[in-house]
Amino acid sequence: DLSHGVILYLEDVTVEFDGFRALNRLSLDIGVGELRCIIGPNGAGKTTMMDVITGKTRPGAGRVYFGQNYDLTGMSEASIAHAGIGRKFQRPTVFEHHTVFENLELALKTDKSVWPTLFARLTGSERERIEKTVELLRLQPQMHQLAGLLSHGQKQWLEIGMLLMQEPRLLLLDEPVAGMTDAETERTAELFLALKGQHSLMVVEHDMDFVGAIAGDGKVTVLCEGSVLAEGSMQAVQNDPKVIEVYLGR
Ligand code: ADP
Repeated sequence: DLSHGVILYLEDVTVEFDGFRALNRLSLDIGVGELRCIIGPNGAGKTTMMDVITGKTRPGAGRVYFGQNYDLTGMSEASIAHAGIGRKFQRPTVFEHHTVFENLELALKTDKSVWPTLFARLTGSERERIEKTVELLRLQPQMHQLAGLLSHGQKQWLEIGMLLMQEPRLLLLDEPVAGMTDAETERTAELFLALKGQHSLMVVEHDMDFVGAIAGDGKVTVLCEGSVLAEGSMQAVQNDPKVIEVYLGR
């Protein structure tokens, strides 16, 4: 059910690096099927927050819950990934010497216990899933081209598709449109709007036009100095004097 419940809940999460508080009692929750944009000035703690969620960084205090009450705090990165949290880093990582189709096939076959191989045959429904994903990514013309030949934006879409093949319950995306052309950014917004409601997504992004395009009337969270400064519709946070101050006061 994508309309009820909480997929992720951070409760009073604190992270300190040598006494410096990168996250300061951060509390945040994301609904199932929600597309939540996270913005905030440099150093606000956005990357640290994603590192805590994915288990790369252990919080000094606070808890991370997945679903209603599944406590992820202190679990390994592998266990958290296995629980269904996928993360897309800023730079694209695709298998450059494989085709678009093969990249998705490898992602689909990535099984925690078996090294993925292209030799095992695909079932008809698996092939169909891959083709549907290629269509969603609008990479049909490139389906049998080597991924290494794709543009930066196309590689980013492919990697999002690869993550989707693994059916994550929550997908974290770090600055998905960084380095994209305007046309690619526009297409990425369309892709995110297509994913909206079907998947639970957390998007950290600096490009405000892009955030405006994908947020709709959904919530945007503004982080500052390791905690939530403001939360609400894009319009509400953009007009919030506290938010204006941290963006313009620097
Ligand atoms: P953002 O992603 O919002 O730009 P970060 O989470 O990267 O913010 O960083 C938050 C603060 O924590 C910054 O001041 C940064 O310098 C500091 N920080 C992040 N990681 C480390 C680390 N490993 N050691 C020391 N300080 C860190």
